[in-house]
Order: sequence, then C-alpha cells, then structure tokens
Amino acid sequence: MKRILITGAAGFLGSHLCDRFIKEGFHVIAMDNLITGSLKNIEHLFKLPNFEFYHHDVSKFVHVAGKLDYILHFASPASPIDYLKIPIQTLKVGSLGTHNLLGLAKEKRARILIASTSEVYGDPLVHPQTEEYYGNVNTIGPRGVYDEAKRFQESITMAYHRFHGLETRIVRIFNTYGPRMRLNDGRVIPAFMGQALRGEDLTVFGDGSQTRSFCYVDDQIEGIYRLLMSDYELPVNIGNPNEISIRDFAEEIIKLTGTDQKVIYKELPIDDPMQRQPDISLAKKILDWEPKIGREKGMKVTFDYFKALNKEELLRSEHKDFSGYNMK
Ligand code: UDP
Repeated sequence: MKRILITGAAGFLGSHLCDRFIKEGFHVIAMDNLITGSLKNIEHLFKLPNFEFYHHDVSKFVHVAGKLDYILHFASPASPIDYLKIPIQTLKVGSLGTHNLLGLAKEKRARILIASTSEVYGDPLVHPQTEEYYGNVNTIGPRGVYDEAKRFQESITMAYHRFHGLETRIVRIFNTYGPRMRLNDGRVIPAFMGQALRGEDLTVFGDGSQTRSFCYVDDQIEGIYRLLMSDYELPVNIGNPNEISIRDFAEEIIKLTGTDQKVIYKELPIDDPMQRQPDISLAKKILDWEPKIGREKGMKVTFDYFKALNKEELLRSEHKDFSGYNMK
C-alpha cells in the first residue's frame, strides 16, 4: 500500500485530499495543528485502518515513522482574515514548515507536492495569469506574509529539486470553493452565503469591479491528483478561468439563495487584487485537465452544505469584516 503524508489535513482542501487518497487505496497519514482546520472535516475517516491523524505543527521538526511515498504540503492559513490574526504562523508554515517537509521528503525519498497560490502573482499586471508571469506583490502589505511565504516556498522547493534531485511538484491554486469551507473565514463565498442565511445584507468591498474566477473543489482535487502523478516539475496553475466581478457575483448569490437582501458597499481591503483569472493552457496540455463543474452547480452544492449546518453554528459565524484593513 502506498503511504502519503497530508499536512493541513483538517482544512478545506486537505480534508478533500484525504478523501481522495483514501478512495485511491492509499494509507493516509494526516497532520494538522488545528489552528484553522477542524477535526469535523475528517472525523468520518477516523475509523479506517488506513488513516492516521497527528496533531502537530509542521513548522516544528516533523517525524513520521516508516516509509513514505508521497507528501502533500497543504498546511497554511489561507484567508486574508487569518493572515491578519496569525501573520507569524503564516510565514512560519510556508517557510520553516516547507523546509521541514522537504527534509522529510529527502530522508524518505518521497515525492512532494507543495500547495502554492495565485497570490504569488499579487495584484497582477498580466491578465490572465500564465505560469511565466513573475507577479506584482507588496512584500510589506497585510497579504505579504502569505504571498512571500508562498513565493519562498516555491524557491526552496525548486532548490531542493535542483540541488538534491528531489521529486517535487508545485500547484498554484486559484480561488477554490465547496463544502467544508469555514463559514466565518472571511472569504467571499462563505461570507455572502452566511449573510444570506442570517438575513443580512451582502457586503461588497470596493465598488465590486474586482474580479475572481472560482473553481469547484472536486475539479481542484482532480487537477492536484493529476499533477502529483505527472512528471512535471515546474509550477502549474489549477483553477477555473470563468471570471466574474464581485458585484455580479453578489447578485448571483442573491438569486441562488432566493433572499431579498441588498448589496451594501464597504471599503476595499489594502492590496486586494483587482483581477484574477488563471491561464490553464499548461494544465490542459500536460495533465489533460480542465474544470468540469460550473458555478451554478458548484454554488448550489456549497449553499446546501452551509444551509445544513446547525443554527448555533450559523449564529456564531457572524460576519468578519476586514474591509479597509490596514497594518496597524
Ligand atoms: N469580498 C467582498 N466581501 C466580503 C468578502 C470578500 O467583497 O464580505 C471581496 C474581496 O475584497 C475580494 C474578493 O471578494 O476582492 C475575494 O475575496 P476572498 O477573500 O474570497 O479571496 P482573495 O481576495 O484572496 O482572492
């Protein structure tokens, strides 16, 4: 049986990856420090003999007994509200954490895939973003802790590949959504859906002309799986190129949820990228991958997930407003 270590396993993407690799017949070793992840996302796997969970912070030395064939490094806070609350941990997991996992991969002769992000492109001056674009990042802005940690992560991964001959893969993940997102993580999809469910107005930051391109989680997981199994070592964008402005997206959510809330406008957060759309030609070519699930279907499944949460959870998840945040 192949053995895989998944870090950030109790998080949104990590937990879906655990499901996928269990389904593929792997022995899954899951690791998470549970700062932003939740055991609820993986508790259904606890009874399986080929699943183990370790409560551990990967920015400290990582020990895993026995052989390892693959490592997926998905541990990191991943929403602007988290970077504000835990900026140092965000930097540490991307830098020290990645270093530890690369060391482990070298020791075990395991192939390692690192979760990078469209944030390496910052507020992009090239549109749509291809993998060749170097990015436009403010190193000292509030998002810098995430963006720069992820950029460092890519550098150190390529250094281990070139210097130690490690088998490495780098996925640049664009906005992804689906069940198990945290209702109060501040990201736009849970934010709007939570507001709709609580009967509040939807808060659009800025004038809403900024764009995003949302990828359903099952498509994202399929892309990551194919990349891990491929022999391609440079970064690959995985996301859905179907782009929409946040203002139009708010209207879509109002229609979907059948509520009669208004859209209200708040200040735009600092360094909020104005446009984002992945160029996925490379993924199409080398992985024969493209997203299959459109926004209409994906958003409905996601909304049904949030709707099914219990009332207390919903009320506890009051909207976290990070509009107009600054560094003080
Ligand atoms: N956004 C918004 N209202 C909210 C939360 C977010 O208008 O309540 C905006 C945010 O300013 C950004 C976009 O939605 O332009 C996507 O934000 P998210 O945090 O989901 O992702 P990211 O900015 O990291 O792509």
